Amino acid sequence: AGTAASGKKYVINTDTTFAPFEFENEKGEMVGIDLDILKAIAQDQGFEYEVIPVGFSAACIALESGECDGVIAGMSITDERIQKYDFSEPYYDSGVGMAVLSGSDITTYDQLKGQNVAAKIGTEGCTFAESIADQYGFEVTQYESSSDMYQAVLSGEAAACFEDYPVIGYEISRGLELTLPTDMEKGSSYGFATLKGANPELVDMFNKGLENIKANGKYEEILNTYIAK
Ligand code: GLN
Repeated sequence: AGTAASGKKYVINTDTTFAPFEFENEKGEMVGIDLDILKAIAQDQGFEYEVIPVGFSAACIALESGECDGVIAGMSITDERIQKYDFSEPYYDSGVGMAVLSGSDITTYDQLKGQNVAAKIGTEGCTFAESIADQYGFEVTQYESSSDMYQAVLSGEAAACFEDYPVIGYEISRGLELTLPTDMEKGSSYGFATLKGANPELVDMFNKGLENIKANGKYEEILNTYIAK
């Protein structure tokens, strides 16, 4: 195990609704792959932390202002973020997908012409939607949380939304009445983030712990808890 030299309690921010990575269960507890991985790594490395679910864009802002020490929120390791954040090694591969209402006849981006499309502020899905908006002639409306974004599609406010494939796929498997008509766009893997230069020892412990929980089977056990094989 590592050393918690300073006896410091790290403040880690996360998203509010991003199942199966972080979400509130029926008992009102925050659970999910990210939180279980963090817990297992902290145990392995011997550091203390507290998790605060503030939402994705709020977590990024808190990280940048030094209000929190780290963010675990299904955060994609993008070229842009690497400029300002130190990331752990990737711990989960992801990508972005377009979701539409089940039964919708939209099956291609072309059919989004003249439509309103929902995206979540500050996410890779939002960046992707905006990158193709002019080409396909649609408008992007931003939402604060994934649940607000899904609601926009369910209510017909938006014709589609762009979300991380494993996340929306999980919700669909749990009964969310949306569907993924197109293939997944290549996206970045998830990593644990700290502000550049701010907590190198934390990134280091995360990486060592991640390696250990992969080696001892804990990482796979966590994935299996949330994702049926
Ligand atoms: N993976 C996406 C990103 O990093 C979305 C993360 C999230 O919404 N929690 O932009």
